[in-house]
Amino acid sequence: MLYNSQMETLRKKLESPSLAYVFKKALYLNTTSRCPSACRFCIKFSWSYKFHGYELKLPKDPTVPELLNAIPNDLRPFDEVVYCGYGESTYRLADLPALSEALRKRGARRIRLNTIGLGNLIQGRDIAQDLSKVVDAVCISLNTTDPVAYLDLVRPLPEYKNQALTSVQEFSRSCVKWIPDTTITTVDMPDIDAKSVETFAKSIGAKFRLRPFLDEYEDQ
Ligand code: SF4
Repeated sequence: MLYNSQMETLRKKLESPSLAYVFKKALYLNTTSRCPSACRFCIKFSWSYKFHGYELKLPKDPTVPELLNAIPNDLRPFDEVVYCGYGESTYRLADLPALSEALRKRGARRIRLNTIGLGNLIQGRDIAQDLSKVVDAVCISLNTTDPVAYLDLVRPLPEYKNQALTSVQEFSRSCVKWIPDTTITTVDMPDIDAKSVETFAKSIGAKFRLRPFLDEYEDQ
């Protein structure tokens, strides 16, 4: 019941675009719409940047106070708080310490980052140790270990194209070293070689998860 009332409070505060949204029992923070890729499987294209009634296209990155103002003061009812929107949260690396500290003060039980894994290229250095100070878990969307298939599926920005897959794999290894709760994921799509992704995940000591492929948008 407490969770339901928190969710209602958040929905009442709902502004467009939404800086935060609730899905299942987690609170998601929409920190940016900047993205280093144009993944073929990304629902932001077919869902017009909407997600179950939330409008997630941000005209600019929200400030830390704007993000904190958009969420409840008591985060204990949520299973976790997740950095994830229709953008790549590692662009906001400099703001994550202040954000995560505030989330923990509000009772966040677990903080997770969902990422396409290109943060090392975005920031120009290995960021896993920094991330380990601000999140409890990281989910890296790898999707394939084949260099040709990677470019076709994830479509990274031209400046990242040559190093993208290698960098994501290095980032994944570094995350396992610094963040014990590291999961490598792939979308469940036809022609996806999920087994090779699972094999890679296990070879570096990460968990593996097959994510459902979403394509048809139904407003709820
Ligand atoms: S990185 Fe994330 S937000 Fe960007 S296109 Fe891929 S799935 Fe979509």
